[in-house]
Amino acid sequence: MPAASVLYMIIPCYNEEEVLGETAVRLREKYQSLMAMSLISPRSHIVFVNDGSSDRTWDIITSLHAQQPELFSGIDLAHNAGHQNAVLAGLMTVRELCDIAISMDADLQDDINAIDEMVREYQKGNEVVYGVRKARKKDTLFKRLTAEGFYRVMQGMGTEIVYNHADFRLMSRRVLQELAGFREVNLFLRGMIPLIGFRSSCVYYERQERFAGKSKYPLRKMLSFAIDGITSFSVKPLKLISSFGLLMVAVSAAAFLWAFISKFFGNTEVGWSSTFCSIWLIGGMQLLCLGIIGEYVGKIYAEVKQRPRYIIAEFLHDEDPGTPGQSSQ
Ligand code: UDP
Ligand code: MG
Repeated sequence: MPAASVLYMIIPCYNEEEVLGETAVRLREKYQSLMAMSLISPRSHIVFVNDGSSDRTWDIITSLHAQQPELFSGIDLAHNAGHQNAVLAGLMTVRELCDIAISMDADLQDDINAIDEMVREYQKGNEVVYGVRKARKKDTLFKRLTAEGFYRVMQGMGTEIVYNHADFRLMSRRVLQELAGFREVNLFLRGMIPLIGFRSSCVYYERQERFAGKSKYPLRKMLSFAIDGITSFSVKPLKLISSFGLLMVAVSAAAFLWAFISKFFGNTEVGWSSTFCSIWLIGGMQLLCLGIIGEYVGKIYAEVKQRPRYIIAEFLHDEDPGTPGQSSQ
């Protein structure tokens, strides 16, 4: 029987006062049963990362820590750094303290009962275990179509991502150490982890509805996350521009030929509409291409600045207390 692993759960929380209490209760029960089965060590923790919430989220985390400091820990980010950065902040803070870490959303959409199987998969020698949604019955049609379309586009762009896997995943300490070497500012964890490699497997679960509160990912954020994902991991859009340019050259050569033949046969009244339309079409396409290049230039700009990806204001933890006011990247 393998030794019980020290498991740290990383839960990013942005204005989650409505769900946090329930999430804590359910996770505590889960931890008790995992400890009773000797699947995880009694030194395991649940770490809530407060991502600059403006509601009572941090107060709730503080009181959970006060009630049960041996189980609940809290990381308070100095400002809203975004979901991906909040997850990374948690993972990097605990990487020396745990054997395995599991990241999970705060809203109970991910199935807590999949944790058992994830830990077992780790014990079988997998360094990464991806939580994969079986079906999206509980999602709205719109969310399902956009999300599934996104995974297909990503795969079409040549990025290695796990279909229907978001950020519910187990990672071993070794994977966390390797992740620390990725210095990029534009984070897209579900594309980065497969790049690390090591042996991995999947655990399938039914995605639930949000327990309470509203999604913190409105369409605007979802779109920018999708564009971020594609442009961080693929230069295919840039290559498409070149192919497109070539195509346009071919089209204009054909148009030239057509104009030449028309002139030759004395049929020269070329309508203004074709000129008018092509100017607009080409103008629009040039702008689109410039926009795509701009996306990449913007990314390079963000990367060269090398700003810290998150700043930790406070780390509430009883085993190895962090220095208050410490900052990390
Ligand atoms: N979240 C975060 N920072 C943000 C936005 C969201 O830490 O700026 C957290 C949020 O509290 C939740 C998780 O990220 O735990 C996923 O967000 P949400 O459930 O709103 O997204 P959805 O499931 O609707 O895609
Ligand atoms: Mg959610």
